Amino acid sequence: MAVNYKAELVGVFGYPVAENPTCVIQEAAFQELGLNWRYLTIEVKPEGLAEAMNGLKAMGFQGINLTIPHKVAVMQFLDEISPDAVMIGAVNTVRRDGTRLIGENTDGKGFLRSLHQDGNIDIKGKHVAVLGAGGAARAITFELALAGAAELRIINRSGERGEALVNDLTVRTGIHASFVPWASTYEGGEDIDILVNATSIGLFPDVDAVPDISLAKLRSDVLVCDVVPNPPETRFIQTARARNLKVLTGLPMLVYQGAIGFEMWTGHKAPESVMKKALEQVFRG
Ligand code: NDP
Repeated sequence: MAVNYKAELVGVFGYPVAENPTCVIQEAAFQELGLNWRYLTIEVKPEGLAEAMNGLKAMGFQGINLTIPHKVAVMQFLDEISPDAVMIGAVNTVRRDGTRLIGENTDGKGFLRSLHQDGNIDIKGKHVAVLGAGGAARAITFELALAGAAELRIINRSGERGEALVNDLTVRTGIHASFVPWASTYEGGEDIDILVNATSIGLFPDVDAVPDISLAKLRSDVLVCDVVPNPPETRFIQTARARNLKVLTGLPMLVYQGAIGFEMWTGHKAPESVMKKALEQVFRG
């Protein structure tokens, strides 16, 4: 009888990485589809990334996810980078094509999928305000611009980072984007359709933290989103719920960015509902 004990390998490089739950989502999908694939959670220090990427090639990994602090540094070790990952300036997913390693960014695509599938929103023509200008904000705003949003307003604590994002968005996508300095007096505006917290405020263990902006001037039909996946019910989301606003948590975004990576790696349609259930289970504890 012919046997094949060889598993296909994928995983995540990060530092720290022990609490990253992506393995749960991917392993649930492999199991559901009966694929002999493994997703490994691997601690790689910044100074070890070059060797880790060589090891990836030597061991024939099918791909890898990158998380803090490797999303930018990994770009120098790749054979090709997708045009949108170049625009965003970061890679969170690497896929292998023969011997070539190709960098992609699925964070913003995951957010778009969650807006569409869970928020029931068509982004075309929408006015979006985004809190934050870090990696997640960059990924989200470029994908929103490419998907046809009408306008982006970037509200960020560091003016330099916020202005740089606005400039990159304007030059690279042509969207109308503007920078608003972070202030507790910020109240949103009647013309905003979607407000996104793309900062790390509220992320475990700082679960009581909440962006100190007022939601006073938002329309009652605005969609309030948070990218923070852990916990999904951030105080920001709770505050919006208490005001009877529609909300979208960071949980579906995390599932879909993984689902898109799964589809790139395996060529199979991702079993999203199985992946989502597995992640919900993690956060229920
Ligand atoms: P970065 O470190 O790149 O950026 C952090 C952002 O948060 C910056 O804009 C920073 O502002 C802002 N910020 C942090 N603390 C404060 C504060 N006290 N007051 C005001 N602004 C603050 O992180 P990432 O963009 O990579 O990650 C941001 C969040 O996105 C994290 O919670 C992460 O878990 C989440 N994420 C979720 C994903 C998902 O699938 N759901 C995928 C990827 C990320 P400044 O520029 O002024 O420092």
